[in-house]
Amino acid sequence: MTDDFEKIISLAKRRGFIYQTAEIYGGLAASYDYGPLGVELKNNLKKAWWKAMVAKRNDVVGLDSAILTPRIVWEASGHLQSFHDPLVECKSCHHRFRADHLLEAKQAEPGYIKEKPIEMKDLKCPDCGGELTEPKNFNLLMKTELGSVEGQKEEAYMRGETCQGIYLDYLSVKESMRKKLPFGIAQIGKAFRNEITTKNFTFRMREFEQMEQQYFVNPKDAEKHFNYWKEQRWNWYKNLGMKEENMRWRQHADNERAHYAKDAWDIEYNTPWGGWKEMAGVHNRGDWDLSRHGQYSKVDMTYRDEETGEKFIPWIVETSDGADRAVLMFLVDAFDEIDARSGEEDAKHEKEIVLRLHKDLAPIKIAVFPLSKKEPLQKLALEIQAELWKKRMTQYDESGSIGKRYRRQDEIGTPYCVTVDFDTLEDKKVTVRDRDTMEQERVEIGNLKNYFDEKFDD
Ligand code: ATP
Repeated sequence: MTDDFEKIISLAKRRGFIYQTAEIYGGLAASYDYGPLGVELKNNLKKAWWKAMVAKRNDVVGLDSAILTPRIVWEASGHLQSFHDPLVECKSCHHRFRADHLLEAKQAEPGYIKEKPIEMKDLKCPDCGGELTEPKNFNLLMKTELGSVEGQKEEAYMRGETCQGIYLDYLSVKESMRKKLPFGIAQIGKAFRNEITTKNFTFRMREFEQMEQQYFVNPKDAEKHFNYWKEQRWNWYKNLGMKEENMRWRQHADNERAHYAKDAWDIEYNTPWGGWKEMAGVHNRGDWDLSRHGQYSKVDMTYRDEETGEKFIPWIVETSDGADRAVLMFLVDAFDEIDARSGEEDAKHEKEIVLRLHKDLAPIKIAVFPLSKKEPLQKLALEIQAELWKKRMTQYDESGSIGKRYRRQDEIGTPYCVTVDFDTLEDKKVTVRDRDTMEQERVEIGNLKNYFDEKFDD
């Protein structure tokens, strides 16, 4: 793990973004909680996704389907048969690993020769050097039981991907919303996978949140829609400030595509812990999902085009993003460590952290500081905060020097700080400081609302 990534993980905990689940009991592997600032950041991210994918579109509608699903759904979807990862176990220390991840790591080592492929038998346990078992398929779905009578309980599954709920409701949505093709259904929600390897913080969790959209199309137009959605998803990350040099497209090879996919492209992020890793995907799922659910439920999924008379099972272009992975990548991307600049008088720091989050994502939009804790500045600062709070998330801070307070806000990515000083009492103006340019402007209190309305795009 690199230094920067360790610093990001420690910042996330120290400043209330992300904590390990059940930490007081030693923690639950691959499970994390979002603290007060983390939940703001994640909600802002989900809001930005919903706005771009649902709220501002005529052709996409939203959904919130159940997490618990009957077994037959996962039989029909093919996940019970094919949603596997190759598991190997160390014969000495009994640690478990994903065979494909071990191969990947070996290939990334210096001295790897592409022409001499590494085989499973060449691999040893990365923890103790012990011998590994042969890979065996390990199903990732999480099973549970419903009902109260022992012996008569019904088997159910926690959904392994949110999109299945969309396919189950496709006909109800189409009919109740009078939708014609092409149209999309989107939802944000939890998904569960019994992941084998659980390293790298929130990158790979067993309970995580997905933001998925399924676009139902005439098969002959699938490629056109596929290219359109690829562009949309790339631009979403870019417009929220992600640096394009840290992003790339990668097409899945024939042997790695999921059982349902005709074509699959990932947006990968250049992570500090392991290079390029999947952040999001765009998939052409063909007619797999609706055909299979049609077969298993015996409900006809055929679409009849009223204008052309064509009949077909719609194809699906899926956009699939992970809310947790996106939060992590935005944190990584925004993390900046610079020479001390805040002007803290008793500065003990040579370096300071600035989280350069996009304004739409920042958990706190504006911080308000009185220069002194005493009246009348305190009262005035609280009044200004109350006004600004009507529209945006604010934070009030009166403790420590102004430099220290700037530094606290820089660390959590607050774009603007407003200082109320003694001159304010005379000229009715406050100092607004910009996180990125460090410029300070005197702004009239009566004009603050308009000033920030122009600064924020909300
Ligand atoms: P990986 O190859 O990393 O296991 P995947 O190909 O299984 O990912 P998909 O099934 O395409 O992932 O899921 C869509 C998105 O959901 C991913 O791009 C990612 O953002 C998110 N996601 C998938 N698995 C996890 C996980 N275990 N923890 C956090 N996010 C995840």
